Amino acid sequence: FQVPPAVNEPVKSYAPGTPEREEVLNTYKTMYESNVEVPLYIGSQHVKSGHTKTINPPHDHQHQVGVYHNAEKKHVEQAIEEALKAKQAWADLPWEQRAAVFLKAADLISGPYRQKLNAATMIGQGKNIFQAEIDSACEIADFLRFNVQYMSEIFEEQPESDEKAWNRVEHRPLEGFVYAITPFNFTAIAGNLPSSAALMGNVTVWKPSDSQIFSANVLMEVFQEAGVPDGVINMIIGDPEMITDVILAHEEFSGIHYTGSTTVFKGIWSKIGQNIHNYKYYPRIVGETGGKDFIVAHKSADAKVVSTALVRGAFEFQGQKCSAASRAYISKSIWPDVKKLLIEDIESFKIGPPDNMKNFINAVIHERSFDKLAKYIDQAKNSDEAEIIAGGTYDKSKGWFVNPTVIVTTNPKYETMETELFGPVLTIYVYDDDKFEETLDLVDDTSIYALTGSIISTDRYAAALATKKLENCAGNFYINDKCTGAVVGRQPFGGARSSGTNDKAGSKLNLLRWTSPRLIKETF
Ligand code: GLU
Repeated sequence: FQVPPAVNEPVKSYAPGTPEREEVLNTYKTMYESNVEVPLYIGSQHVKSGHTKTINPPHDHQHQVGVYHNAEKKHVEQAIEEALKAKQAWADLPWEQRAAVFLKAADLISGPYRQKLNAATMIGQGKNIFQAEIDSACEIADFLRFNVQYMSEIFEEQPESDEKAWNRVEHRPLEGFVYAITPFNFTAIAGNLPSSAALMGNVTVWKPSDSQIFSANVLMEVFQEAGVPDGVINMIIGDPEMITDVILAHEEFSGIHYTGSTTVFKGIWSKIGQNIHNYKYYPRIVGETGGKDFIVAHKSADAKVVSTALVRGAFEFQGQKCSAASRAYISKSIWPDVKKLLIEDIESFKIGPPDNMKNFINAVIHERSFDKLAKYIDQAKNSDEAEIIAGGTYDKSKGWFVNPTVIVTTNPKYETMETELFGPVLTIYVYDDDKFEETLDLVDDTSIYALTGSIISTDRYAAALATKKLENCAGNFYINDKCTGAVVGRQPFGGARSSGTNDKAGSKLNLLRWTSPRLIKETF
């Protein structure tokens, strides 16, 4: 079969007077007062455990937009059972039928559900409309459509045969079930991790972040309307450790598709090790974890290009991206110009909730994150090695607001040059113009993570040197750009070192982790 060619979903403008602007604002208003009740999705059941927690937007922690039901141990066990019950029929379904289900989901997301998903992402996760549109309308639709195309290409590739022997490969799903754990920061990642495994014929138990539950619920509505059969994607939420322990103790556990913190992923990996003798299969372990992503600016760089990359890389979506630029190395001779532009840009930011369509910066996701950021900001205020040149203030009276902050340090190993903060705090080290090469070595030495990074330079030799010397520091490396904003189908995304297994979300490589190929040789 020829599948429809995957094309990136066009990003809508939301300019004043456009129908999409009016539609998203109306949907936002309705959803803001909706007080939804999010159940557990277990097989065909919408289960209400009765143990509820409230859903509050980050910009107004006293306002309730809904509640969600928390799973108990028995619900996790039921979700696994329902997945296993659904397994055979789903795996036996011809692949083009599974493809059609997820193409339909993409169509619903880019059409009738677009503004519902956008509004849920704005309210629940604190994105402005432009950030929501890229994530919860376009990127998720792209993941679904490109994955279908990649799946068909995987099935097409067959080994050599001759007149005496016909060799063929069947890409069967894994036996058992796949566990998907997803983060709060991208609705697209939340949708992609369970659906990519399911597309390849697997059944899944999905645990979204409890800070993304508002849009996760809409995704489940989409999956159901698209015709994902009961039990193929089960969504449960609750105490993460309890859920993970129950799942990892199950003999049919056969893989994890994870995006989240490095610490949690390492904990999961070691629990899998402890349970290895209980399993029927060696589990597939696929994870994208933390980042301490960098921008290096060479003395030849244009100051405006550098400051724009810093502002967008560090502060879009409050820096809450694994890919966010959180450390930068700037050559001394361009620093005064970069600094001036950076401060001007930061001072022009509009800060507040996303409903007025003008605010660029919103609150950070929750109190834990707020407290962590406030601690590091205070530490910088009291350090001899650090100076705050922009921001440095925070306020949690109504929402979890942390003003975009730039720390300049004289110590390239200062704590915030190495620790992932996951918020709107950028730390800069200014290096001597003639120490470019040493600085690249320093970046390599201090890159515990290796997710994204950029070199900004108009000098081709400098760009080439950085590309070579930093080859192990970033799974996604950018030349003359910010280090965020990978587009599905163009820049498959993922990193190595403590940033993950580098199985590139939105790629054939990733989909191949969810199959157990069988080679059949038939002799004539
Ligand atoms: N893919 C996103 C980007 O390129 C980041 C995803 C993440 O934060 O995990 O900016």
